[in-house]
Amino acid sequence: MSINSKSKRDGFIARNNSLCSSPGCTLPRVGTRKWCRRHARSVDKHGGPNGRAITKRELQPFHKSMEEFIERYSHHPGIKRGIKFLDDIMTVPSGSPRLSPKDAELARLVDKGLTGKEALVIVASVFLFSKYSPRILPVGPELTFAFADALLKARPQAVITSYWDGQSQRRAYKTVGTKVRRSLGETIMSGLSGLLYTLSAHFDKIEAEEKQRNLDYREPFTPNNEEGTEKLSS
Ligand SMILES: [Zn+2]
Repeated sequence: MSINSKSKRDGFIARNNSLCSSPGCTLPRVGTRKWCRRHARSVDKHGGPNGRAITKRELQPFHKSMEEFIERYSHHPGIKRGIKFLDDIMTVPSGSPRLSPKDAELARLVDKGLTGKEALVIVASVFLFSKYSPRILPVGPELTFAFADALLKARPQAVITSYWDGQSQRRAYKTVGTKVRRSLGETIMSGLSGLLYTLSAHFDKIEAEEKQRNLDYREPFTPNNEEGTEKLSS
């Protein structure tokens, strides 16, 4: 191998390494990250380079059915435990002079009336959305971040107003840091995954039963007495 082609190859590798790791993205990496600025922001906010916020509208049908479901099965020990788990993590030490950023967010939600039961409806609806739209919301960090995101949005978020040019006004939701999102999402995932997968299996069973019913209805009518079968085969 000539020195020239070796240096050419090294140059290519170096260039390639400095590109964003998101497939198809040709933008340069930012700082020490594996991603370009845009994809790094998605990773920080949504857990993956192609992650995005799941809208209230997208969650609405799942939210509605989970509300009914959790009401109907409120006697189920797993549902009871799941509600208690969320109530417990939302109970932040009262009277502590300084709350951690995560506890401050949880305190905000509780102050605005979020209960463990409603939180479970939200978490379960995000999980079902992921189950039926795995390409939009895959199981993994994206799902974990989406749990936190949906909970944090369950009540109005703090708005910050900033000014520039001395007169223009800009209002934006105060962004909750990556650490808080990840930590809250992981707490939910580790505490509730058993219940969520049971829920998933329940919906799989309903779906399979429905499929079987449709197959049964489409079954052609054939005689089933032994004589008939013998005559046909002889
Ligand atoms: Zn990129």
